[in-house]
Amino acid sequence: MRSVPRHLFLPGLTLASAYADEAVALKWRGGRAISSISQPSMIAAMLEMLDVQPGSHILEIGTGSGYNAALLATLAGESERVVTVEIDDQLATEARAHLSSAGFDMVEVHVGDGRAGWPARAPYDRIIVTASTPSPEQSWVEQLAVAGRMVVPLARELQAVAYVKIGDELEQRGTSPALFIPLR
Ligand code: SAH
Repeated sequence: MRSVPRHLFLPGLTLASAYADEAVALKWRGGRAISSISQPSMIAAMLEMLDVQPGSHILEIGTGSGYNAALLATLAGESERVVTVEIDDQLATEARAHLSSAGFDMVEVHVGDGRAGWPARAPYDRIIVTASTPSPEQSWVEQLAVAGRMVVPLARELQAVAYVKIGDELEQRGTSPALFIPLR
């Protein structure tokens, strides 16, 4: 986290705000935030559960600012191993610019409904979802490699759950508190 310049993902904010341990809303609709860059300590707990290894091929659902994708690329050691999907075209365009300014041009940002994952680049060693959902989508399970790990924030539980894929099934491997905007 020290090596990824968070302020480049939050243009227009003061440095103090960009580096505070707080979430920052990125886009509003009807008085509600529909995108936000997550709180660093919450991301850290989720990344610890994700257990990215050097060279891991990773899918992120919910690009937002692109900040977490940059953290994932840093952990994998190779930006071209990270694929991220964002439903909002404008946010995806901005995320590409942020990633480029921070030196992560090779992260693949796609526009689409992340509920379908991104089958073209599957299987993934790691999948991280950064918007809440009632339960993991079957498409994510299918696109996760055997023995791969997935971290998903569950809307009702207010926690992120880590899973490992054993055969065709997910086994739960831990939780951490997590509050996220719901998937659209
Ligand atoms: N990881 C981001 C924070 C994501 S906030 C960061 O580091 O900044 C959640 C994001 O998920 C929002 O940008 C929202 O637009 C996006 N989103 C919501 N529903 C989605 C869907 N169905 N597919 C893909 N992205 C979605």
